[in-house]
Amino acid sequence: MFKNMEKTWNKCCQLIEKKVGESTYNLWFKSIKLYSLDEEKAVLIIPNRFYLEWIDNNYPGIIEKSIREITQSEIQVIFELEKELILKRSNNLQSSNVQSPKPMDRPSYLSPRYTFEQFVIGPSNQFAHAAARAVSESPGKAYNPLFIYGDVGLGKTHMVSAIGNRIIETKPNLSVIFVQSEQFTNEVVTAIRHEKMSEFKAKYRNIDVLMIDDVQFIANKTQTQEEFFHTFNALYEMQKQIVISSDRPPKEIGAITDRLKSRFTMGLIADIQPPSEELKVAILHKKAAVENIKLPDDVAFYLASRIRSNIRELEGCLIKLAAHSTLIGSPINLDMSKQILKDVFYDDDKPITIDFIQKKVCEVFGVKIQDIKAKKRTKELTVPRQVAMFLSKRLTDCSLSDIGKAFGGKDHATVIYACKKVEERAEGDESFNRIVEQLSDKIKY
Ligand code: ADP
Ligand code: MG
Repeated sequence: MFKNMEKTWNKCCQLIEKKVGESTYNLWFKSIKLYSLDEEKAVLIIPNRFYLEWIDNNYPGIIEKSIREITQSEIQVIFELEKELILKRSNNLQSSNVQSPKPMDRPSYLSPRYTFEQFVIGPSNQFAHAAARAVSESPGKAYNPLFIYGDVGLGKTHMVSAIGNRIIETKPNLSVIFVQSEQFTNEVVTAIRHEKMSEFKAKYRNIDVLMIDDVQFIANKTQTQEEFFHTFNALYEMQKQIVISSDRPPKEIGAITDRLKSRFTMGLIADIQPPSEELKVAILHKKAAVENIKLPDDVAFYLASRIRSNIRELEGCLIKLAAHSTLIGSPINLDMSKQILKDVFYDDDKPITIDFIQKKVCEVFGVKIQDIKAKKRTKELTVPRQVAMFLSKRLTDCSLSDIGKAFGGKDHATVIYACKKVEERAEGDESFNRIVEQLSDKIKY
């Protein structure tokens, strides 16, 4: 613990003020409060998340950098919302007061924001929600493993985290690990490289609950799968709870071993479907209440009708609106929303064009449009060019030869070849696949 955390924080504030200037400081930084500070972490309280959004966009990392400068240690900054801290404290009076180490005890990566209280239930997630609740009430006994799947942004991480948070709250003796499958993979690789396999095993096999998020990313990773298989068996035999999330059902995860697939199907498989309009509106109102944002009904319906399914994007829009309304000092209304979000929503009546696809692809890959239309065949250009061709085929009605022409006069065989390349790579390379799918969504919506 730093001896005088308030003093340290004050110094840090002064430093930030020096960097950003007084008026910006007063508008965006002044209302951030220190909750706790030790050698590893600073927990800060923010009034709502659009402060973060704004700070991240305009001064990325400035708070962390400043704290590190002042304390000369590698402190990690964690933000918590004012309302949630209050909620947490009243829910759990004994263990959640300021002195208690409880909020810091959470396994890393498990966000305290994602609780059942904050999860809105609708027909599309009701079943998965009921299963998750049951598992959190009797881990290891209700359904094991619990496998939750659904498209990106539909609430898998939230739901899995809620199980973890609930267990930590109600059964503090149980040890819980929540891990992204990429992180799990890194740990396997590191353990093997440094001959630390026994530590790895000690960590993952002496626990009561293992939650692994986005398991599809271990496709193609043989060693990780091998380790996960053994970890799974060890925990399962001891009736320890395993919770898995994925963007698709077990049988559709290519490139994982059959024996692992069959393990995934031993318990309960529950899916989360895209939300109905009512559910989207209900989620928006819930988020708005948590973030202290006044959201008129017509704006909620407008957002819900424009964002098809991804709830993360829905939230993103809300935060954007809130940031804007704070900045100009007037409440959110429908006209303002349409104005602010005009770049976010693609007009339904306007068909997607190859030009637009090229623009978006080039933005993401950081290359120039004229370069992907040219003949140069360096790798930096080939990949974005092929991706843009692939997306042009997928998202427009243009013929192959029209697409070829739009890329500086290439023929239709080149377009076919590009599409094939992109499909092949996306199949074997999850992160590439993700980039392409995100781009596709970005262009569509
Ligand atoms: P996924 O892991 O499926 O990609 P997340 O769990 O990260 O999705 O959810 C994206 C965002 O949407 C999160 O901020 C989450 O809180 C929110 N969200 C999704 N579903 C719900 C829900 N039913 N109620 C409240 N918030 C939700
Ligand atoms: Mg997720």
